[in-house]
Amino acid sequence: MLILEYKLIVSELQATAIGEAIKVVQFIRNKAVRLWMDTHAKPYDLNRYCAVLAREYPFADLLNSQARQAAAERAAYAISRYLKPDKTGKRLKKPKFQKNNRSVEYKTTGWKLSEDRKRITFTDGLGIGKMKMLGTRDLCAYDLEKIKRVRIVRRADMFFVQFCLDINRSEVTEPTGKTVGLDMGLKSFYTDDVGNSVPCPQFLRKAEKGLKRAQRQLSKKQKGSQNRRKAGVKASRRHLKVQRQRKDFACKLARCVMMSNDIVALEDLQVKNLVKNRHLSKSIHDAAWSQFAQWLLYYGKVFGKPVVKVPPQYTSQDCSACGRRVKKALSERTHVCPCGLILDRDENGARNILRLALAILAVLNEILPAEGKDLGSAPTQGPAATAERTRRDVQFDETYPGAPENGEGSPSETPGEMAPLLPAQAG
Ligand SMILES: [Zn+2]
Repeated sequence: MLILEYKLIVSELQATAIGEAIKVVQFIRNKAVRLWMDTHAKPYDLNRYCAVLAREYPFADLLNSQARQAAAERAAYAISRYLKPDKTGKRLKKPKFQKNNRSVEYKTTGWKLSEDRKRITFTDGLGIGKMKMLGTRDLCAYDLEKIKRVRIVRRADMFFVQFCLDINRSEVTEPTGKTVGLDMGLKSFYTDDVGNSVPCPQFLRKAEKGLKRAQRQLSKKQKGSQNRRKAGVKASRRHLKVQRQRKDFACKLARCVMMSNDIVALEDLQVKNLVKNRHLSKSIHDAAWSQFAQWLLYYGKVFGKPVVKVPPQYTSQDCSACGRRVKKALSERTHVCPCGLILDRDENGARNILRLALAILAVLNEILPAEGKDLGSAPTQGPAATAERTRRDVQFDETYPGAPENGEGSPSETPGEMAPLLPAQAG
């Protein structure tokens, strides 16, 4: 799945019409959730319910019928993520009524591209009409049949349109003969196994002063006033900027790392748990490791190269030369081992990570012929288990970035079919 995004040039009237469409989508989604709460309706019932709503409410009838279906599918998706755990065993919270929907999604009808594919017209009853699209990617390069979904997304600064194409992106690169292990840190964004490091960009820290000011202005304004609304837009624009900077950084760096190496190893960090440490949480959020890791996985797929996540336990404690466990506090920056090895702490960690990853890949190569065997009897511990998990991830992960979950092109997990947009949080 490939997602192309363009800015939209909209008039005031069109902005109102899009706002109306977004409200209708939210209405249908919430009605569908209500129906499920009352009757435990199945996805099929929710889809049929769209037609009932369209008959009952004239404003719902104005929205394209497939867009109505897509709205009900959002509800169905939220419900299924609550009822069934995903492959990592996580379940989402019970669906709530949505208040801050920001997008409307069309399928293959209700919109039309102009001859040169630089303008798009929405043809349903809401009167959005024709809009100019700004972007660098040429849509003419793609088959129209490949466009499966079209979304209009509202962000603090403007409207965007996204095209979801049924194309698997893949690029062929020359083998580099290089492998790399990355140790994620707070001092530097990462350190690799030969001691190269990339400094943390600290976008949030840099923007903090302006952000705080905008937030202060916002809280001073009277609730419900026009001035409060304006201050709100200003504050969200600042947040959007940080979000975009982070994404840009993570995406470009990940691409660069994947281009210049054949195998990339990193820690399988549980950022959620780390963030619970209050003193470090801002730095950790700012470091945006998980976003970086997701982009690495994405580019790994694009280039057809393995990205191996290894368990993070003891990677910084163990000696990369002799394997001895050398306990050290978080503040100790140098690894000093009785065997004579003196090395930067992070570099030692990166070497361990790479060694572990190569061991996992070796096991992986051994068990690959046994493909198709019952996954239920797979080992649950040790390198073989990790290899098994990696094998499953490599083959069945349908992770791809590009579907902006929080509005700004951040990587997100999506099931086989196009997942509905989750309610946006920041911005
Ligand atoms: Zn040693």
